[in-house]
Amino acid sequence: MSPSIFTPALLDRCISCGFCLPACPTYDLTKDEASSPRGRITLMRALETGALPADDPTLAREASFCLGCRACEPVCPAGVEYGALLEQWRDHQWSGWRVPLIVRVLVQVVRRDLLVRLMGFPGGNIGAGRPKAGVGVAAERVHLMLGCFERAMFPRVARAARRLRPELWKQSAQGCCGALHAHNGESDEGIKMAHRLAEQLPGTIVTTSGGCAAHLTSVLGRDRVLELSEYLTREGTPPLSPLMVDGRRARVGIQDSCHLRNGMGVHRQPRALIALVADYVDIPSAGRCCGAAGTYSLLRPQDSRAVLEPKLDDVEAAGVDYLVVVNPGCQRQLIDGLRRRKSTVRVLHLAELLAKAAAGAEPARRRTGGVGGGH
Ligand code: SF4
Ligand code: SF4
Repeated sequence: MSPSIFTPALLDRCISCGFCLPACPTYDLTKDEASSPRGRITLMRALETGALPADDPTLAREASFCLGCRACEPVCPAGVEYGALLEQWRDHQWSGWRVPLIVRVLVQVVRRDLLVRLMGFPGGNIGAGRPKAGVGVAAERVHLMLGCFERAMFPRVARAARRLRPELWKQSAQGCCGALHAHNGESDEGIKMAHRLAEQLPGTIVTTSGGCAAHLTSVLGRDRVLELSEYLTREGTPPLSPLMVDGRRARVGIQDSCHLRNGMGVHRQPRALIALVADYVDIPSAGRCCGAAGTYSLLRPQDSRAVLEPKLDDVEAAGVDYLVVVNPGCQRQLIDGLRRRKSTVRVLHLAELLAKAAAGAEPARRRTGGVGGGH
């Protein structure tokens, strides 16, 4: 008998109730059962029993059409762990020649610590941390995870986080957390990389990326890892002054990180932090995927845009000055989308928004001019 593709207890849990269908962005686009969480679980079961081969066109299409946003999890009365099932599905589906070329290249690049470190240079690598008096031994430090793509694309986010909490230790000799691998058919490698990162960063790990936070906590446990908004909620912020636009408090909305919200249940914390410095504006689709979804915007650019566009309508209709993000993929996706529309809404990571408010609260002579803008 051939080994199972899926953990039977995970695959058996779905009771086919369909409560997840309205939450699923791809079902929303197509109204096709096969593109819903329930439909995909039916496909997984067919794959498991051998009723469908892995190269069946519907199976192949749906394994990549799924955003992996996990919006189907919090609404599921049976507690189906869809994210875990999707990882197991892609481990099997995206093996050998079936691995998409873009995925193959990206996982090879971020597998190597040296390349990850070099990725920081073009955007301004923040370098290795220098010990400060009283910081203590490595295992007692609170390490800032620099990420792989975040350190390349948005190094200013790590700088902003350290302005808020200078004790965050910036150890430049750190690799990728393995989330990219886990979500793209290499879950064993994703687990291995998370453990390697844990050895490089002993003690507590704080990350500014919701996707990385969810992957790391799933491997290392909740007590080793905190996403930045959780850490700031626990430890506090420096003095903050209100952010003003045209003589009034700024209007600020948020785009949730899917894995942070759906996988870790973290969504109140960033909103409460925004409300400290601005008028928080609720954007109805804030909890819905923006279409970035890791490699998705590269693999399926048209579908990614189709998911994004209604969200951009919502953002513009809300009349916000800033849109806050808590994940680098969302940051790239929303900056690009709003730029295409020539929108005046600026995208900032939560760390950047708060660092801007902290700079405003500093005595005038110490002000450094705040942090970089989204676009
Ligand atoms: S809500 Fe959960 S149990 Fe119901 S169909 Fe969706 S995944 Fe299955
Ligand atoms: S992960 Fe997202 S896109 Fe995939 S089935 Fe669940 S809700 Fe739909």
